[in-house]
Amino acid sequence: MKNKLNIDEFGIFLVWMGIIFSLISYFTKSTFLNSFGFVIFVFAIYRSFSGQKERRSLENKQFKEKLVDPIKQAFKNGKKDATKLNRSKDYKYIACPNCGQKLRIPKKKGNVKVKCPKCGEKFDARS
Ligand SMILES: [Zn+2]
Repeated sequence: MKNKLNIDEFGIFLVWMGIIFSLISYFTKSTFLNSFGFVIFVFAIYRSFSGQKERRSLENKQFKEKLVDPIKQAFKNGKKDATKLNRSKDYKYIACPNCGQKLRIPKKKGNVKVKCPKCGEKFDARS
């Protein structure tokens, strides 16, 4: 089929941009933003119907590399940092002698004074 609608990630992104700009222009009553959103929208539709498949897929590839991948990478790094913070090997888990509440204390700190957040019991613990 020649005029097959093939909308890729970049096309979807453009459509969303068009919708977002139209919404913003609706609330700000900006004719500039409205036209801008419309232009993006038209461009997205033009891209979808355009037969230049190679150029389209190249654009889509560039869009992914420049915008999607860095975002994905940032998410990945954020997750990595979060797991680093929660590394259990830096902490020791002890139970409160009064109520049995599980507590986390930093390791290799010698004797630490611990206050149970549940019952308020204060006690010394070796880490
Ligand atoms: Zn307790």
